[in-house]
Amino acid sequence: MDVPLYLRPRVDQPLASLLGAAPLLHSLVDALGSPLNVLLPETVAANAERFRAVYRRHHLAGRVYFAHKANRSSALVRRLAAAEPAAVGVDVASLEELRHALSCGFTGDRVMATGPKDREFLWLAARVGATVNLDSPGELEQLARLVREYGLGRPQVLLRLSGFESAAGHGGAGTRMLSRRSRFGTPARDVEALLAAVERHADAVELTGLAYHLDTTGLAEKGRALEQCVLLMDECRARGLAPRAVDIGGGFGVGYVADAEEWERWTTALSEAVLGGRPPLTWRGHGYGLRNEGGTVRGSVALYPGHRPTAGPGYLDELLTLPAPVLGRGPGTLLLEHLHDLHIEPGRSLVDQCGLSLARVLDVRRTGEDSAPYLVRLGMNAGDVSLEEHGVLVDPVLLPRGEPEKDDGEGPVGVHLVGNLCLEADLITRRLVFLPRLPRAGDLLAFANTAGYAMDFHAHHAQRQPLARTVAVEKDGDSWRWCLDEDYWPITHPGGTPA
Ligand SMILES: *Cc1c(COP(=O)(O)O)cnc(C)c1O
Repeated sequence: MDVPLYLRPRVDQPLASLLGAAPLLHSLVDALGSPLNVLLPETVAANAERFRAVYRRHHLAGRVYFAHKANRSSALVRRLAAAEPAAVGVDVASLEELRHALSCGFTGDRVMATGPKDREFLWLAARVGATVNLDSPGELEQLARLVREYGLGRPQVLLRLSGFESAAGHGGAGTRMLSRRSRFGTPARDVEALLAAVERHADAVELTGLAYHLDTTGLAEKGRALEQCVLLMDECRARGLAPRAVDIGGGFGVGYVADAEEWERWTTALSEAVLGGRPPLTWRGHGYGLRNEGGTVRGSVALYPGHRPTAGPGYLDELLTLPAPVLGRGPGTLLLEHLHDLHIEPGRSLVDQCGLSLARVLDVRRTGEDSAPYLVRLGMNAGDVSLEEHGVLVDPVLLPRGEPEKDDGEGPVGVHLVGNLCLEADLITRRLVFLPRLPRAGDLLAFANTAGYAMDFHAHHAQRQPLARTVAVEKDGDSWRWCLDEDYWPITHPGGTPA
């Protein structure tokens, strides 16, 4: 057997001590079934507070809007609803997410409605006084018509822009760098027509800011977009409009792998394996986007950057500090000088360290193949913990049931994790995963830090396999309290026992 290549997860407290509470996790799965999601609502509040600390450092006002699409949980949304109203809001991208946020205690004025919207979504958003983050000129027209037709109050709107260019003509070297294309938002070059439409509909909508969301980790690209927005805000004011906020969306990221060297070693080994220089590290030699063309590695790795030196609030801090290409100062300073509010819409990073997904080991099989000697079948499928879907590679934590037995064998073992569907492609990860020993039926595998997209975004009912239940847990001295996600409320009952 090869030297084990680990990608051990980054786990902070209290997630680390939850992983240490194996008897609790076993009894939860015994009672509620496999798969099971476990959430830590207090951590989402702590994360929001970390983002707020960055605001304070830069003396900025504005709101942290949780991008609801990252997780369906009620406990997380209710916990955030209990946070300071002026500081924390929620970003909803569908009618149902809006209804859910309202039912969890968010008032309409703390809601940001994003994404493409239908008439019902627009009506309810306007009805409850949410800010409407307009995706297109067509959506602006539609909203203005609804407002007039149904006598709704004048909603606050942001204009979502995309396709920012580096500022040619502002002293740049003439090279035009277009930011990543998005099919959402209005291209920044069409902003003129959009502002004209806002003026035309001034009786129906109030422009309160500009917005973007770039699905990239590139700091420079985001810095450029932010500066462009600041410059466009000036243009708006020169025309007599009065926007006061820039909403820079989400994408602050999460570091999943604890150790930078493990990540380096694994990605290097992947290239070597693709070239045939070492045994495969993946199911049937899958290259995650890399391929061997005549002895050279081609393609690009379609993987989330597993180890990140800075992510989440730290990434926001860097973004606000990095000198802007045209105006030379950091965007934080620019926003402050112009007295603009800063809104952000973190999804993944706000639920960093907020939970884990559990699966029971159903059976362990020998394959007879040298490169993948064992298949470990789990009571979950690839939709229940959609790490592959997001290119997130990380080792699960083995939580044995009871004491080890004599025949458990010594030392690490490489296994493939397969799901509960009759589908060749149903692999929990295509990676060969190293566990400290061969698991047994009845053991649990815990996938840490799955609250951002990995828990429920891709969950489905195929083969009528059970969908994961979700529980909320909270540390109480040396023990844990838990309840079903839907039963969680951020209050304590008389006598001190929280709901
Ligand atoms: C998905 C999304 C977000 C959240 O992105 P993360 O990468 O999870 O932070 C924020 N805003 C909009 C408009 C989105 O579509």
